[in-house]
Amino acid sequence: MTAKILKIAVPVPLYKCFDYLAPVECTGPIIAGTRVLVQFGNRQLVGIIISEQASSDVPVKKLKAVRQLLPHPLPSELLNFLQWAASYYQHPIGEALNHALPAILRQADQKQVLANLWQLTAVGFAQNPDELTRSPRQAELLRQLQLYKGGMDKAQLDLLSFNWRDSLRSLEKKQLVKRLTQSQASALIQCQPSIGCKPILNEQQQSAVASVAASLDHYQAFLLEGITGSGKTEVYLHLVEQVLLSNKQSLILVPEINLTPQLISRFKERFSVPIAVLHSGLNNSQRLLAWQQARDNQVNIIIGTRSALFTPLANPGLIIVDEEHDSSYKQQDNFRYQARDLALVRAKRLDIPLLMGSATPSLESLFNSQQGRYQRIKLTQRAGNANPPNIQLLDVRRKPMQEGLSDHLVELIRQTLEQKSQVLLFLNRRGYAPALLCHDCGWVMPCPRCDAKLTYHHQRTLMRCHHCGHETRPPKRCPECQCEELINIGIGTERLEKYLNSIFPDADISRIDSDTTSRKGSLDKKLADAHSGKSDILIGTQMLAKGHDFPHVTLVGILDVDGSLFSSDFRAPEFMAQQLIQVAGRAGRADKSGRVIIQTHHPEHPLLQTLLHHGYPAFAKEALEERQQACFPPYSSLALLRAEATQAYLPVQFLEQAFERFSPCQPKIELFGPFPSPMERRAGRYRYQLLIQATSRAALQQCLNKVIPHLNDLAGANKVRWSIDIDPQSML
Ligand code: ADP
Ligand code: ZN
Ligand code: ZN
Repeated sequence: MTAKILKIAVPVPLYKCFDYLAPVECTGPIIAGTRVLVQFGNRQLVGIIISEQASSDVPVKKLKAVRQLLPHPLPSELLNFLQWAASYYQHPIGEALNHALPAILRQADQKQVLANLWQLTAVGFAQNPDELTRSPRQAELLRQLQLYKGGMDKAQLDLLSFNWRDSLRSLEKKQLVKRLTQSQASALIQCQPSIGCKPILNEQQQSAVASVAASLDHYQAFLLEGITGSGKTEVYLHLVEQVLLSNKQSLILVPEINLTPQLISRFKERFSVPIAVLHSGLNNSQRLLAWQQARDNQVNIIIGTRSALFTPLANPGLIIVDEEHDSSYKQQDNFRYQARDLALVRAKRLDIPLLMGSATPSLESLFNSQQGRYQRIKLTQRAGNANPPNIQLLDVRRKPMQEGLSDHLVELIRQTLEQKSQVLLFLNRRGYAPALLCHDCGWVMPCPRCDAKLTYHHQRTLMRCHHCGHETRPPKRCPECQCEELINIGIGTERLEKYLNSIFPDADISRIDSDTTSRKGSLDKKLADAHSGKSDILIGTQMLAKGHDFPHVTLVGILDVDGSLFSSDFRAPEFMAQQLIQVAGRAGRADKSGRVIIQTHHPEHPLLQTLLHHGYPAFAKEALEERQQACFPPYSSLALLRAEATQAYLPVQFLEQAFERFSPCQPKIELFGPFPSPMERRAGRYRYQLLIQATSRAALQQCLNKVIPHLNDLAGANKVRWSIDIDPQSML
C-alpha cells in the first residue's frame, strides 16, 4: 500500500509548504488542520496539514514520513482564515499558522499537552484491533487511537463517523484507554447567564443596540463612534447579553489588557458565565485551556488583545473591537497583521456582525463608513450625568516656564490640589532628560549604535537609548572639548516628577510609565491608588491615555504637544489628535467636571484649532481631505519593504534588485526608493526601505504575490534582514 502524500506547513520563514508521507497505517481521510510532528533538517517541528496531494515534485522515495499525528487540530475555519491572512500580509504560511497556536501546541515536546485527551494505555497499544471482532466501532476507535499516539481530543473524536462516546467508555472499562490530566474545562458546564444589574440605556444607546441586534444573524460591520464616557461599553454589554441568550460566543478585542481591568471587571460583574481573558499573565497551560474552551463551546465570552483574534470559536455570534483606532492592533514584527482589519475578514467569513468602537475612529474606518461599507452609529452625549471636559489651549510663548511647566499651569495644579481633586499630567517622554549637551561646544551624546540621542535616567544615573536599549554611564566631561559642564536638556517624566515633588512636597505623586511599572503588579498598584484617590498627581506617558477612567481627576495638563505637530509621518496628525482627545477623556467622569489644558507654542496651528473648536469629527474630515490630495491611505494602498544590515550598501543593493523585480508591474504600482529609513542606523544596523504604492489593493496584492515569495533568491539576500509590511502603520 502506498502512503498518502501530505502538503504540510512547517514553521520556517519560507514561502512554501513541504511534502511528507502520511503514516502508512493511515487509511481514512486526513483532516486539514491536523498538527503533525515532522523532521525538518535536523530539527523536529510541529507542522500543520494543509491538504492531501495526488503527487509530489519530490520523488516519493525521498519524502520523509510524518513522525506523529498530534491532537488539537486547527479548526478548518481558522485554518482557512489564517491562510487568507498569511497571503494578504505576505507572510510565510507555516509561521503564520504557528503564530496562531497556543505555545504548548507549537512545541515538539508533547509532554505538556494536557487537556481532555484520551490516550491508549500500554495494554491498549499492544491490543490488536482486529481481535475486537464483536465491536467494530471499538476496533475502529482503537485503530485511530493507535494512530494518534499522543492522544485524541474531543474535536478529533467528533470527526469519527459514529458516536464514539459509548465505544470509548467500553475501551476505558477494559483499561485500554486512559484519560489524560483532567482539565478544569469539564467543570464549566453551560449555564444560563444570570445577569447583574444594569443601567437603563439612554435613547442613543438603545438605538445603537437595536441596530446591531437586528444584524446578529449575518455579517455587517458597525462603527460605534461615541465620545469617552458616552456608554459604548454599556452597548457592548447589552449586545453580548443578547448573543449569550442565543447561546453563542462573543469575541472582544481590546488594545492592552493590563490597561483595561475596568472593562473586564464590568463583564465579570454583569455575567455569571465563565469568561476567558487572554492576557500576557497567563501561563502556557492556561492559554491552551482557554483555547480549548472557546473551541469546545465551554466559554461564551472571550476577551483578549490582538492575538485573541485567532481563538477558535465553536459557535461565534459577534466580534467587538474596542478602541478600534488603537495602534496596538497592528503587530509590528514577524507576522505584521492588523487585528482590526482581520477581524472584519473573519466576521465576514463567519457571517456574523463586527462592532468597532472608538471615541476617535481611525481615518480608515471613517472612510469605510463614508463609503457605506460600515454602518456608522453615534453616541454624542455622556451617559449618566457627567459633563464633557472643557479643553483649552495655553499659549506659553514668552511665558515663564520651569521644567516644562508654565507658571499658569502650576497655579492651576495648586488650586486643584487645594480642592482635594486629582491632577493628571501627560508627557509622552520617559526618563529624566532626552539629551545630554555640552554647554561649551554643543556636543550631544549620541547612541553609538543608532542615529539617536541617549536619554538621561536620573534614578539609575544612566544614559540610555530608547531605540536599542544601549546603556552607559554619563561622561564626566565632553569628549570633544573636555569641558565639564554637561547639561541635561529637555524634560522627561522622571524630571517632571522630581520638580513637582519639590514644589508640592505634601502631594502624593505617582509616575506611571514603562520604567516605573515594569515589575509585576506595580501597574495595578499604581492604578488602584489613582482610583481610590490616594494619589494627588498622576504623571504619565501614553500608557495613561488608554481606556482608563480616573473619576477624581479634574485637571489634565498636556505638556508636549508641539513635538508631534511637525512630524514627517503622514499619520502623525491623526495619532496626535486621537491621543489628545483620549487623554482629555480621562478627566471629569462621574460627577466632577474636568478641565484640560494644552500647553503649546503654536496656539494658531490649524490642526489644534480645528480639533478644539470643531471637535474630532471635523478634524478627521479635514485630515481625510489632505490624505486624498496626497493620495495616501485610505485613498491608496501601501506596502513597505524594509531591509537592514551591518553595512549600508547591502540593503541598498538588495532593495535595488527588488525594485527591478517590481518594475514590470508599473504603472499599476508606483515605487519610491530605496531610501534610508527615518532612523537610518539602529542597533548598529543600516536600514533602508522601498515603498510600494497602488490605488488598487488588488493590483498591489498581485504584484506582491509575484515578487515577495522570491526575494530570498536575490543576490545577497542572505546578508540582509528584510521584511514586508502591508498597510504599514508607521514609516519608521
Ligand atoms: P465608554 O465606553 O463610551 O467610555 P461607558 O460605557 O464606560 O462609556 O460609560 C461611562 C459611564 O457611564 C460608566 O460609569 C457607565 O457605567 C455609565 N453609564 C453608561 N451607560 C449608562 C446609562 N444608560 N445610564 C447610567 N449610567 C450609564
Ligand atoms: Zn564640548
Ligand atoms: Zn541605540
